[in-house]
Amino acid sequence: MLRLTAVICLALLSASALAADPAAWLLKPARVFDGVDPKPHEGWTVLVRGDKIEAVGPSVQTPADATVVDLAGKTVLPGLIEGHSHLFLHPYNETSWDDQVLHEPLALRTARATVAAKATLLAGFTTVRDLGTEGAGYADVGLKQAIEQGIIPGPRMLVATRALVATGAYGPKGFEANVAIPQGAEEADGANLVTAVRHQMGAGADVVKLYADYHWRPGEPSRPTFSEAEMRAAVEAAHSAGRTVAAHANTAEGMRRAILAGVDTIEHGGEGTAEVFKLMKEHGVCYCPTLAASDAVAHYKGWNGTEPAPSMVAEARKAFGLARAAGVNMCVGGDVGVFAHGENAREIELMVAAGMPAAQALVAATSGNARAFHVGDRFGSLTPGLLADVIAVEGDPTRDIHAVRAVQFVMKGGKVYAKP
Ligand SMILES: [Zn+2]
Repeated sequence: MLRLTAVICLALLSASALAADPAAWLLKPARVFDGVDPKPHEGWTVLVRGDKIEAVGPSVQTPADATVVDLAGKTVLPGLIEGHSHLFLHPYNETSWDDQVLHEPLALRTARATVAAKATLLAGFTTVRDLGTEGAGYADVGLKQAIEQGIIPGPRMLVATRALVATGAYGPKGFEANVAIPQGAEEADGANLVTAVRHQMGAGADVVKLYADYHWRPGEPSRPTFSEAEMRAAVEAAHSAGRTVAAHANTAEGMRRAILAGVDTIEHGGEGTAEVFKLMKEHGVCYCPTLAASDAVAHYKGWNGTEPAPSMVAEARKAFGLARAAGVNMCVGGDVGVFAHGENAREIELMVAAGMPAAQALVAATSGNARAFHVGDRFGSLTPGLLADVIAVEGDPTRDIHAVRAVQFVMKGGKVYAKP
């Protein structure tokens, strides 16, 4: 009890410290990358007032009430957006996914998620699209509220709650069939799928996550799960409520059904063909290649990073290349949780290593993700009137992408969380 009281006092202290932030900030970096223009602007400054960006440009006046932040040598850019996180998972080389879902108490998972949220924010990722709690129920909705209420530091969250899988398709599996095993997502099919979508939205889901394919039995390759008609009905229910839909799909057929059903983004897509990516382009579906997840799992299986890369890494790179060749809009999301929270920049680095120009990857990780997730009118670029989600990194990440890891300054909604 005593310990709990102490924690609450600390939280209140930090919340009141945040409330004491000045009314206006003038950020003076070496250059500004606005999230839209791939070219950084030397000598620009950014003026923030309250929770919004007030002005950006070469000759912004310093108001008398503004606190000037000297960011010499640094690049200011919009807060990065993580397109595919699982704050309720931690790296599989620490604990297997099965053991996290089956053996870790919800309170343990939630406590760990608060630490993951802080690490994410301090890595410069001011927003996450968290694509499923993987067995932790609706705890993402509560975590999001704790961040919004200033109880703990963390990114803005777009949450998917439990996510949706076809009956029998997901895991953990491989147990006696007569025993009910807790699952990493909610099972629903047919008309019940629409009911489950609506229930999840009512309980807090900002985005609906569907598994279009999965391994039906352990060791078996991925095969389609939902029919196109099932997914179309789910998408219709989600869209009519103003929510977007993300589809986990690895197989070409799972991807094809998800595209035709009208989903907004496709996650993974390792077996995507040129034909399927062409279809994605035609239907305006964004692609989230999760290169960092394949890379991490390959390392857990013993890969030391030398070429030739193992097949799962080569497959992910190949799909990424096909998608780029087809002109598909890219989401940036690493499936972080499979690897450590705070290492989110890994996905951006791997996209660049696989051939995407650094500036393009940074546009994708800011205004691109914001547009794909239908939040670009609120944040994602350094545009007057938008929420002041702003970071600064040492050096120029458009010249050397690894600079995105050298985060020196983090502001979310006009509140400063890290400062040089
Ligand atoms: Zn995932």
